[in-house]
Amino acid sequence: MWEEVSIKEKLECEAPFCKYPSGGVITYIELDSTFVKNTKAVEDIIDYAFQVLDIPYLAFNFPIDSCLDCGYQGEFNDKCPQCGSTNIQQLRRVTGYLTSDYHNFNDGKQAEVLERVKHSKYSPEGIGVTEH
Ligand SMILES: [Zn+2]
Repeated sequence: MWEEVSIKEKLECEAPFCKYPSGGVITYIELDSTFVKNTKAVEDIIDYAFQVLDIPYLAFNFPIDSCLDCGYQGEFNDKCPQCGSTNIQQLRRVTGYLTSDYHNFNDGKQAEVLERVKHSKYSPEGIGVTEH
């Protein structure tokens, strides 16, 4: 989760191992919040994972911060960029589970949230395997 690799590199690295676990397997890609509005790029990732690499189960993680006062959604940390409220909910994945307030977790799990690499940061707008 802390390796600074692109989406394509992460998928290609994990794909050969997907056939070994008898109890099931899941591959996660970490995206930044703006990337998920690019449905064509997300579609490219899904197609590449399923059709080219034969990955059986794929999921995306991306932060969703919601202002509980005005409803603004995006990725922000301390306060809402629209109304300035600090009454915000932060949806994050921590040790495999989605949580709406990771600040209630212990120090190690909070550190995990901060250490998770967003693979989209190391990728072109698309996955980098198809022409746009
Ligand atoms: Zn707000």
